[in-house]
Amino acid sequence: MEHEPTPVPGETRDWTFVMREGCPECGWRQWPDVESLRAAWSAAAAAWPGIVTAPGAATRPKPTVWSPLEYGVHARDMIRLLGYRLEAMVSRHDPEFNNWDGDLANVVRRDWATDPRALAADVELAARQTDSVLRSLVPEQLERRGHRTDGAPFSVLTLWQYMDHDIEHHVWDVTGARVQP
Ligand SMILES: [Zn+2]
Repeated sequence: MEHEPTPVPGETRDWTFVMREGCPECGWRQWPDVESLRAAWSAAAAAWPGIVTAPGAATRPKPTVWSPLEYGVHARDMIRLLGYRLEAMVSRHDPEFNNWDGDLANVVRRDWATDPRALAADVELAARQTDSVLRSLVPEQLERRGHRTDGAPFSVLTLWQYMDHDIEHHVWDVTGARVQP
């Protein structure tokens, strides 16, 4: 993309409702056990390198809808943040998290101009790092707590489910299909 694109309107919706109701858009529901969550998360993370390096990935479908490349930067951030946040929840008492502003990050970092090959490698690295955190979890740690600055409470397990939905949802956004674990 040669010219700076239109900023995408900010996302202000609180997506925690998907934990109770499932997602009416992509059809996601909470995974019933850790093994199915792990499989779905791994498959969703693994989808992104191919998505961002596909022909046309830098093209926005509409002026105010992110390109697959831009969604890939966001997915990389979410994959990385999941690892950081779970490590904080395991090592500290009830840590607080900022609500990540992906729309602002997109503009400030010029995500539309990201190099696809570098991003693909970056997604793979983030997925490996977060996966090693996930694999280190013992069952008692799944109930450890953290909370968002707006007070929304999470356990290790519910934050993993919530952020799994985020990256699965965006695969659905750009491919029109659910990831098959
Ligand atoms: Zn969804």
